Amino acid sequence: CGIVGYLGFRKAYPIVINGLQRLEYRGYDSAGVVLTNKKGMQLYKTKGKVAELKKLAENKDIDGNLALGHTRWATHGIPNNENSHPHVSSSGNLVIVHNGIIENYNTLKKELLTRGYTFKSETDTEVLINLIEEVKTTNNCKLGKAVQLALTNVVGAYAIAVFDVTKPDEIIVARLGSPIAIGIGENSQEFFVASDASPFIEYTKDAVYLDDEELAIIKLGRDIKIHKIQDDSEV
Ligand code: GLU
Repeated sequence: CGIVGYLGFRKAYPIVINGLQRLEYRGYDSAGVVLTNKKGMQLYKTKGKVAELKKLAENKDIDGNLALGHTRWATHGIPNNENSHPHVSSSGNLVIVHNGIIENYNTLKKELLTRGYTFKSETDTEVLINLIEEVKTTNNCKLGKAVQLALTNVVGAYAIAVFDVTKPDEIIVARLGSPIAIGIGENSQEFFVASDASPFIEYTKDAVYLDDEELAIIKLGRDIKIHKIQDDSEV
């Protein structure tokens, strides 16, 4: 029931793990983290507490300056390792962490199955990341636009953070009904994403809280751009 992300020049893993621990008060049944480095994407996730996740990732490849972490409060699919977040799209390129519920996930899933998408979990969240991939492929558009278009087809509540493993300088976040805060480092050289500001308060006092139905494009080295999800003239 919490999200933490980091994109910048520091090692992302410790920031995300410590941040998840600060969000433990929110309650959860599983925890996970995805990060990218020179060797590609590393994904660690497990049923249980953040302490379990730390054990799992111990002595593994945890380098990298981009990471997303999640604590899950299961709504669709029992608490197990496969249903834990982060979730990865069928191509293996897009990753997501999500708090909330995609109410029309079953209808969306049926459509995606007929288009050849495959699913490893029972979650509504894995449906959303594959929907984003489908929209991105069919429209041949940027990730931010794909997330926006996909969300206009979603009924439910969410805070999400998404990135493309092949473009590790950008995170897209969006919210409807679940909180999400963005911490901005000096000169946009680093960014933090979290369910509340506690995971990044020691690094920056410059925080932006997304409103409902807003989407933010966070890219290294430039100001964040915030858009209305329903406004298709933007993004
Ligand atoms: N609905 C999603 C799931 O069951 C996210 C739950 C949450 O908010 O942690 O995996």
